[in-house]
Amino acid sequence: MITVRNYVKPATVEEAYELNQKRANRVIGGMMWVRMSKGNVGTLIDLSGLGMDKIVEEEEQFRIGCMCTLRQLEQHEGLNSAFAGVFEECTRHIVGVQFRNGATVGGSVFGRFGFSDILTALLALDTSVKLYKRGIVPLAEFVEMERDRDILEEIIVRKDKRRAVYFSERMSSTDFPILACAVSEKDRVYRVSIGARPMRASCIEGTEEEMKDAYRRFSYGSNMRGSSEYREHLAEVLIRRAINALKERDA
Ligand SMILES: Cc1cc2nc3c(=O)[nH]c(=O)nc-3n(C[C@H](O)[C@H](O)[C@H](O)COP(=O)(O)OP(=O)(O)OC[C@H]3O[C@@H](n4cnc5c(N)ncnc54)[C@H](O)[C@@H]3O)c2cc1C
Repeated sequence: MITVRNYVKPATVEEAYELNQKRANRVIGGMMWVRMSKGNVGTLIDLSGLGMDKIVEEEEQFRIGCMCTLRQLEQHEGLNSAFAGVFEECTRHIVGVQFRNGATVGGSVFGRFGFSDILTALLALDTSVKLYKRGIVPLAEFVEMERDRDILEEIIVRKDKRRAVYFSERMSSTDFPILACAVSEKDRVYRVSIGARPMRASCIEGTEEEMKDAYRRFSYGSNMRGSSEYREHLAEVLIRRAINALKERDA
């Protein structure tokens, strides 16, 4: 259980950032994950008053505010038609509708959880994050960065006509994924992102020929959901299926 002393709903991102510099304080998105943690929090910093809960479609990109819920991603027509339903597919298995109406994309990305469907899908696209202090950083770089006390303001997904597909394997429909796989293709270059290895998602790029043994270029671990050998086998199958699905769409 967590015990919270104060609750603040800042009026500016600057105020949220300043409050967040104190180690005892904690930013919250939907609080779905934070509320399951243990310990004492000085001040809980609620970002919900900052208007960062919109998905804005521009000519060259989508700007997804950190407080957008997973349900907004799942249902957004523009996002889903630009990326062939990837956002619906990577969210619809997460717990249930009520949960997805609370959990935010900011919490999902900033958390950099190993099991994250969202991170896996976003990594296969041309995605950057906008951090209040550090500015815009490619998602692949952000995933590897040391966790700091910045504020994630928005996620930027470029509309580069990349085609994408998302698959995950789960023991039961709303469980955490045993393995998550997103593949995109642009100008015959494939980008493969594998998550829930169970380590956090990472991605590689190459031609179709180079992607034949793509699954060997990731490392895998074992936990209660599956062994490293099983995950490697799943990766081989899901990557092949994803590339075939993209090619079938061409045909
Ligand atoms: C029971 C359960 C099952 C789940 N199953 C899945 C699953 O199958 N697949 C999947 O992908 N995910 C799953 N999740 C994760 C979930 O989808 C969310 O990613 C998670 O709840 C975090 O989102 P949140 O809005 O609740 O963030 P919070 O819990 O509010 O925050 C998470 C972390 O991010 C920080 N944070 C939040 N917003 C910001 C911001 N804007 N800037 C800086 N830091 C920020 C917080 O300080 C905290 O450290 C599951 C979670 C739970 C609790």
